[in-house]
Amino acid sequence: MTAFAQLTTELQALQQQQAYRSRKLVASPQGIWLTVDGARKLNFCSNDYLGLANHPAVLQSFQDAAQRWGVGSGAAHLVCGHSAEHDALEQELAYFTGRERALLFSTGYMANLGVVSALMGRGDLIMQDRLNHAPLIDAALLSRATFKRYRHLDLAHAQSLGQGSARRKLFVTDGVFSMDGDAAPLPELAALARQQDAWLMVDDAHGFGVLGAQGAGSVQHYHLCQDDVPILVGTLGKALGTAGAFVAGSAVLIETLIQKARTYIYTTAMPAALAAATRTSLGLLETEAWRRDKLQQLIGQFRSGAEHLGVPLMPSVSPIQPIVVGSSAAAMAMSARLWQQGIWVSAIRPPTVPVGSARLRVTLSAAHEPEQVQQLLAALGQVYAE
Ligand SMILES: *Cc1c(COP(=O)(O)O)cnc(C)c1O
Repeated sequence: MTAFAQLTTELQALQQQQAYRSRKLVASPQGIWLTVDGARKLNFCSNDYLGLANHPAVLQSFQDAAQRWGVGSGAAHLVCGHSAEHDALEQELAYFTGRERALLFSTGYMANLGVVSALMGRGDLIMQDRLNHAPLIDAALLSRATFKRYRHLDLAHAQSLGQGSARRKLFVTDGVFSMDGDAAPLPELAALARQQDAWLMVDDAHGFGVLGAQGAGSVQHYHLCQDDVPILVGTLGKALGTAGAFVAGSAVLIETLIQKARTYIYTTAMPAALAAATRTSLGLLETEAWRRDKLQQLIGQFRSGAEHLGVPLMPSVSPIQPIVVGSSAAAMAMSARLWQQGIWVSAIRPPTVPVGSARLRVTLSAAHEPEQVQQLLAALGQVYAE
């Protein structure tokens, strides 16, 4: 009982620090408008960057595949859970990303944990950008390898960390940083990794589907092949609008993961219907380039409008357009003011972001219309004028 009394005290402390997290109950499908507490809110906080989460064709594939395959996959991929839908999606993802093979995971979190701890162990060296997403940090800790972090985007610092000997070396970076929206200098990191005989792993959760001529992400944007970025992670729950993740790379990498990645081996395969729905999303990505073009236009509109208003922006190239506010209390208050005006932008606070850099994390989607971005700008203008 005393342990629970301690927890209660800890929860109270979180509340006092404006760090308490709570969930809002959504009563509608994902989209630009979300129903919360009986009211409609204009949504600027989801990662459904292309508007595919509730797309009729994706939904239809999901329903049709559920009719054919049922709901549960029944077991892990290595037992009897690996269906023809999973296999087809893996092949399509490999082809799409220009890699030899791809392997599905149930979530991006699990993909990161599985890959890093399968490849790295005691006596190895992992080097990560300080602002990498939490699963990558956890993955490094879990692996028991020596773990060092370099200052955000700081290549000279990264280079200095990689000197010296280790059994294996791995550089790990987000492709597009999840809370900042800026892009990693992948060509330079690839060169650095090559020079230090290290591997480079890119988690492109926020670039995949959005960046690159065909939407294949940061690596396509920079024209980096499998030799440059041997370990590529993409997630399916963001731009693709479904759920799950994949790792793409050489046949040797994928076979190693099948043998050794514990988050692959010891977990139930994603439902086959989800793989089928994702195949349709991937098809839309390839045939509907207008979604990416429209998204870029909306990003441009938002940035020039915000600049005009004097709202401080970050050097973001992506649909993630954060506005750094400072304290958690101030970020919460601004989010609440926007909420009153019918707009949902979430406040992101420490420990998700560094102390003193709490922010409004605005995200844009191809499903938005320019008038809605205008509405957001008008509300931001009002909040900033207060
Ligand atoms: C969202 C995210 C993940 C986790 O992916 P899930 O499929 O949601 O578990 C991993 N890495 C980054 C950079 C992310 O933004």
